[in-house]
Amino acid sequence: MKAAVVNQFKEQLEIKDVPKPEVKPHQILVRIHACGVCHTDLHAAHGDWPVKPKLPLIPGHEGAGTIEHVGEGVTHLKVGDRVGVPWLYSACGHCEYCLTGRETLCLEQHNTGYSVDGGYAEYCVADANYVVKIPDNLSFVDAAPLFCAGVTTYKALKMSEVKPGEWVAVFGVGGLGHLGVQYAKAMGMNVVAIDTFDEKLELAKELGADKVVNAMKEDAADWIQKEIGGVHGVVCTAVAKKAFDQAYRCIRRGGTCVMVGLPPEKMDLPIFDTVLNGTKVVGSIVGTRKDLEETLQFAAEGKVKCIIETRELDDINTIYDEMLDGKINGRIVINMEK
Ligand code: NAD
Ligand code: ZN
Ligand code: ZN
Repeated sequence: MKAAVVNQFKEQLEIKDVPKPEVKPHQILVRIHACGVCHTDLHAAHGDWPVKPKLPLIPGHEGAGTIEHVGEGVTHLKVGDRVGVPWLYSACGHCEYCLTGRETLCLEQHNTGYSVDGGYAEYCVADANYVVKIPDNLSFVDAAPLFCAGVTTYKALKMSEVKPGEWVAVFGVGGLGHLGVQYAKAMGMNVVAIDTFDEKLELAKELGADKVVNAMKEDAADWIQKEIGGVHGVVCTAVAKKAFDQAYRCIRRGGTCVMVGLPPEKMDLPIFDTVLNGTKVVGSIVGTRKDLEETLQFAAEGKVKCIIETRELDDINTIYDEMLDGKINGRIVINMEK
């Protein structure tokens, strides 16, 4: 089968023919129709993080397709079912975290397109227990980005505990952030969106953002404190330390700063202000299978729609360059049917 492979960190991905993976018991073989390109895939290819992915690696954790084969012991899925293969490839199912609806914290987890091969390929093996079905009225291309960008921002908004009518700031209007703006509006929040590119802020406005700030032109935190009196919560998806520092400073007392983006740097966290302001700073990692079902339902009901440009697998290195330069509006989805 055709796949895009990371052989070495910081090198171009190689488009090559690799053996079609074999299905073990409790697994399924998914024929990938579409796979979104997440900034995490770029971090993986660069070896940016303390925990490194396997090499060689087929990245991709927004793969959507049809089941072509079900392994021994799989009873709840059948050939032909439409599913997505998310970042949480599998978890142990019996630890403290798995038992309390926090499976994304499981220490025994595997991650698609990181510790196991993912969706930048014609086929991908998945753990039958951790895939989620795609609603009938969503195309593979439209559904694919919801399996990471969608669920991650939806879950982060829940973690922010911002209530309808209150203010949330979304830092970074990229693949994640442009969905974050839409989920926040669908959840009844007032939204201020922050990015460093005017085109992305225009998109944020079209998607319902009530206010936008260009962090290259203003200190976003000062602006938000002055214009809005601070936000009740913030979801920071930007891949920049500066954005995290500003995200923290734009919150009002008692608010929550949800960290989502994964730049490899550290963030400044003033102890005095955090204590006196009663600020909560929390990390949020993707979402559970239940979060994913809810995420997909919003899209199935037409309440959110990912802005998508489809491309071919052969374009992957160009797509990575565009992502590094911040040139992508919305999400690029590899259409494996092209
Ligand atoms: P993206 O490249 O599509 O979007 C990033 C956006 O941040 C861009 O629009 C960029 O212009 C903007 N930005 C950069 N510097 C900024 C600044 N100083 N202020 C405001 N905006 C700024 O990337 P993405 O796919 O949306 O992913 C974003 C990050 O989230 C990545 O680090 C990725 O690894 C991480 N991520 C985390 C999770 C999780 O579960 N926590 C899940 C998926 C992705
Ligand atoms: Zn992702
Ligand atoms: Zn577990």
